[in-house]
Amino acid sequence: MRTTQPKTIRLSEYTVPAHLVDTVDLRFELFDDGARVHSTLSVRHNPDSAETAAPLTLDGDSLKLERVALNGKDLAAGEYEETGEQLIIAGVPDRFELTVVTWIEPQNNTRLEGLYKSSGMFCTQCEAEGFRCITYFPDRPDVMARYRTRIEADKASCPVLLSNGNAVERGDLENGRHFVTWEDPFPKPSYLFGLVAGDLVEQRDSFTTGSGRDIDLRIYVEPRNAEKCDHALASLKRAMRWDEENYGREYDLDIFMIVAVDDFNMGAMENKGLNIFNSSCVLASQDTATDLAFERIESIVAHEYFHNWSGNRVTCRDWFQLSLKEGFTVFRDSTFSADMGSPTVKRIEDATLLRTAQFAEDAGPMAHPVRPAAYMEISNFYTLTIYEKGAEVVRMIHTLLGPELFRKGSDLYFERHDGQAVTTDDFVKAMEDASGRDLSQYRLWYEQAGTPQLTVSDSHDSEQGVYRLTIEQTIPDTPGQTDKKPQHIPFALGLLGANGEALPLIQDGSSDAESAPLEQVLELTEARHTFEFHGLPGRPVPSLLRHFSAPVRVIYPWSRDQLVFLMSHDPDGFNRWDAGQRLAVDVIQSLVGASEGTEIEPRLVEAYRALLGDSTLDQALVAKMLQLPSEAYLIELADSPDVAAIHHAREQVLQHLATSLREELIACYHRNSVAGNYELTPESIARRSLRNTALSWLLVINDETGRDLAVQQFQEADNMTDRMGALRALVNSDYAAERSKALEEFYAHFQDDPQVVEQWFSVQASSDRAGQLPQVNALLEHPAFDWKNPNKIRSVVGVFAGQNLAAFHNPDGSGYAFLADKVCRLDDSNPQIAARLVTPLTRWKKFAPAYGSLMRESLEQIRDKSGLSADLYEVVHKSLGS
Ligand SMILES: [Zn+2]
Repeated sequence: MRTTQPKTIRLSEYTVPAHLVDTVDLRFELFDDGARVHSTLSVRHNPDSAETAAPLTLDGDSLKLERVALNGKDLAAGEYEETGEQLIIAGVPDRFELTVVTWIEPQNNTRLEGLYKSSGMFCTQCEAEGFRCITYFPDRPDVMARYRTRIEADKASCPVLLSNGNAVERGDLENGRHFVTWEDPFPKPSYLFGLVAGDLVEQRDSFTTGSGRDIDLRIYVEPRNAEKCDHALASLKRAMRWDEENYGREYDLDIFMIVAVDDFNMGAMENKGLNIFNSSCVLASQDTATDLAFERIESIVAHEYFHNWSGNRVTCRDWFQLSLKEGFTVFRDSTFSADMGSPTVKRIEDATLLRTAQFAEDAGPMAHPVRPAAYMEISNFYTLTIYEKGAEVVRMIHTLLGPELFRKGSDLYFERHDGQAVTTDDFVKAMEDASGRDLSQYRLWYEQAGTPQLTVSDSHDSEQGVYRLTIEQTIPDTPGQTDKKPQHIPFALGLLGANGEALPLIQDGSSDAESAPLEQVLELTEARHTFEFHGLPGRPVPSLLRHFSAPVRVIYPWSRDQLVFLMSHDPDGFNRWDAGQRLAVDVIQSLVGASEGTEIEPRLVEAYRALLGDSTLDQALVAKMLQLPSEAYLIELADSPDVAAIHHAREQVLQHLATSLREELIACYHRNSVAGNYELTPESIARRSLRNTALSWLLVINDETGRDLAVQQFQEADNMTDRMGALRALVNSDYAAERSKALEEFYAHFQDDPQVVEQWFSVQASSDRAGQLPQVNALLEHPAFDWKNPNKIRSVVGVFAGQNLAAFHNPDGSGYAFLADKVCRLDDSNPQIAARLVTPLTRWKKFAPAYGSLMRESLEQIRDKSGLSADLYEVVHKSLGS
């Protein structure tokens, strides 16, 4: 906690560490009232450092130092300096052994950084700077060492003792205690250190690598969760195989472990050989997890596993390079998920997240490049820009190079940098060297913040048969960055003829219709380009930015006729969906602020009718196409949005569609109700999705048939997707009695399962019917709510502010005051979570003044809190522009 301004750390001031650590020998004595950590480091001066006489400087946070010794000799109080954040020892020899003993209190650690306790279990979270809460250490990723870790604890309460690497020794000690020693042969930065001690059961499996090595796979959970590990284990094996086949990467230790922890700030953590997961990102069963949760678990298990190479074997030099491991690994897990299910649907999901949330971040006060130039608190930079935009930046290299050269580049990258801590520039360089392509302009994607905007215009000369497409690129100003240079953008394009046929793209006189491609990736490098396509007597309909080939905004004056046409004819599934979204956005926007009774576009109704009746289309795509653009996306698209007006317009369209298509919705519901066992195939997931969408629409218009179907489905469901689909539909209807009854029954049935209770909280907090402020406050008083558990906080406070937009943006400002109050409360116990929850308020400048000024007031209230954490200080001051 601090009252002064936290320090700004800049990439330009990076220097190599003055000292390196070769080995780390740790001994943890774990007790109920604390833990003693003995650490012995073999330290040497870094030959690459010019500071030959530099003192040894170690980071530390909330540590009680008990002993410090150099080459076995205890140092007296005057021989070292403790500043509160550092331990400094001057006049050290070139090579020496340092022993540090610290006392910490995991049981009182509510920040959940470093070593802490969750449901009686000891566990760690060291990324980014948690290791310094355990012992004094050069806590920066470019110091890589080999770790040996001995854990000692009470055998009855902590029968399982885990750390990184392979277990090499175990035995009993006096007083009912025991120990296990782990050795990790691979050098790693301190942020990848992991430790778990507790009463856990294991689920085992095994995997044989391509080269024939047998790997022992284990998931450790609390005994009550023993039945919920199968999906994660199966996902892990699929990910291991996929990484061998697609990147030639094999696993390198004899054992791979996953531990589920209830209290966790993040989703999961890729500690070498010992991944620690938030329970909600690993535990699943048919009865307790929705299809969405199953898919999410598969992708997170894969993501953390993939880090073994992209992150652990090759790691980041400093935290400005965070996207080196995260962007690349998100790209890898996203491609994996596409391969496991529907590539088009996965692309739609990724693009939706980018366009709704990352674009908003990129246009807000915390906007930063994929490789930031400065930060105050690194935990504030675990953002959509680093992860999702970072993944797009890797994806575009894949698009520009093609799959073969990209693979050559990734092979070279892993080979060249194995065991090193490197930069995003090293990654791009490997891609350049392997492909022979010049990516110097491309590097601007890492340096410039803000979402590029492409304004497209076209003309057609029917006499010459020439179609001209002009694309202009601009990149908006962001905090600290103006006058940006044009970026290198791959722009995938197709042209459609009057009957929906794909037209050959003949760009100059030399190629003929036979050899011309039907789709092309244009490379934009200038502020303005004009492309000419020949041999086109009729005016084509352009299909722009296919597959969302770059994370950019496209402005083009589509007519509604063109959008309806693309919705049913574009051979690119992504653009088919996108045309539907654009049409719906256009219709909703035209109703915002319009007088009551304004006609709703009949072509939208007919397009949706056609979708509902078309069983030849990929049903997973249909399920996506039926979903109207979210309020969050509509807000993102609007200048100075009036949230209440947008909410009202969207509701009008939804009600009009549901009323007009009632018969089709009921037919769709029944057509997709298939008897038989629950299956997790893309086809059955699509069916459940369609059926639940149909149900939710029927309940929006308070249809009695819909109500009866929902009640029946709620009672009879044999899986959580259908049970939750019915519950959500009832909660969002005006059938108050049915809603209360279903909520009560659901809670009574699942109250002992924390992950399901989190879903129960979310479904209410996100509902504009059941989640108004008094009801949300009542949820916070519920016995199952826990201020120490990040998942519970996110499922009520986070969901209310992030998903229940009409209630959060109540014009009286009560939603903002509520969030400010909760953020201040949390800042004292868990500043990382507080700084993340405040995000919706930071966008105050975006909104219509009536909203913005109230949001600002709430931010100022947070700013004036005494003892503001560095985490919150940075976010609040940057968003207030102070
Ligand atoms: Zn990651």
